Amino acid sequence: MTPAVRFQKVSRHFGQVRAVDRVDLEIAPGEFFAMLGPSGSGKTTCLRLIAGFEQPTDGHIEIFGETAGGVPPYRRNVNTVFQDYALFPHLNVVDNVAYGLMVKGIDKTERTKAAEQALELVKLPGYGTRRPAQLSGGQRQRVALARALVNKPKVLLLDEPLGALDLKLREQMQEELKSLQRALGITFVFVTHDQGEALSMADRVAVFNNGGIVQEGTPQDIYRRPKTRFVADFVGSSNVIAPDLMTLLGGEKRWASLRPEAIQLSGNGVEAKIENTSFLGAATRLTVDIKGARLHVTLPAGTHVPTVGATVRLLWQPADVHYMDDAA
Ligand code: ATP
Repeated sequence: MTPAVRFQKVSRHFGQVRAVDRVDLEIAPGEFFAMLGPSGSGKTTCLRLIAGFEQPTDGHIEIFGETAGGVPPYRRNVNTVFQDYALFPHLNVVDNVAYGLMVKGIDKTERTKAAEQALELVKLPGYGTRRPAQLSGGQRQRVALARALVNKPKVLLLDEPLGALDLKLREQMQEELKSLQRALGITFVFVTHDQGEALSMADRVAVFNNGGIVQEGTPQDIYRRPKTRFVADFVGSSNVIAPDLMTLLGGEKRWASLRPEAIQLSGNGVEAKIENTSFLGAATRLTVDIKGARLHVTLPAGTHVPTVGATVRLLWQPADVHYMDDAA
């Protein structure tokens, strides 16, 4: 199958800065693809290269099998939802959404109808005559989404679109975006530095660092089998264990990751001391000192929680220890 987006050894350098450095990438049609990484790792530049707002310094980009080089943004069948939404403050909601169709020369009746349909899609019918300033942050986000969808793009690029929303709204929008993507079958490419967001929404995740992709895989792969220490650290919640401690614990002298939920309290395990306990609702998170290092342990709700200062024994299955490369 022809990929929706293909990068072959794509670089974008700004003087000495290697914003994107020899990236190979294939995004399948209809896929929800997340680009995850810390600030400055090159995600947004990759998105802008797909959109056509940036040109590669080197390498080759294809969109649905067509060479993207020399094709201007408005002819790429790709639309972007920007982090700040970039709505026109002086236009009402319908005119904001219909703007792209107006530029394409579509007559007013037809474009208004299409805009109203797009507003229904993002659950914002009846808001057409308001100005952006009369909307909440979440509603503005939906208008920005409708404005991109009205053009029926084959690829929708989303640059941290939920960054400005509060946690509850963000979680709601995550679910809505996912079901919208499923219903429309459009390829979504989503940029975020929030690992929870990437893991919960994407079919596949690319983890970026220093202008390159360090690991690519399903959310389960990335979470369970981080390839490098950087990925394990960045994707979060896992315990990253240094080689020296691994040897003390009877393992190989290599960097390893061990998920907090894979550790159990058990009579014949390794001795550790409870330093802190945090009640999280569905689970309790323990911070323990084990041979001078700090590990996290997650206990499911209903399990007995030892008191701070208590000595416990920790046990895990050797198969739950995942060895990694040290390279960042
Ligand atoms: P963030 O999450 O903060 O948006 P990012 O991963 O999207 O980060 P990019 O915006 O792609 O990162 O930037 C990658 C690197 O390229 C950064 O070091 C940035 O300063 C640099 N960069 C991006 N655009 C330009 C530009 N127009 N001129 C010079 N340097 C740039």
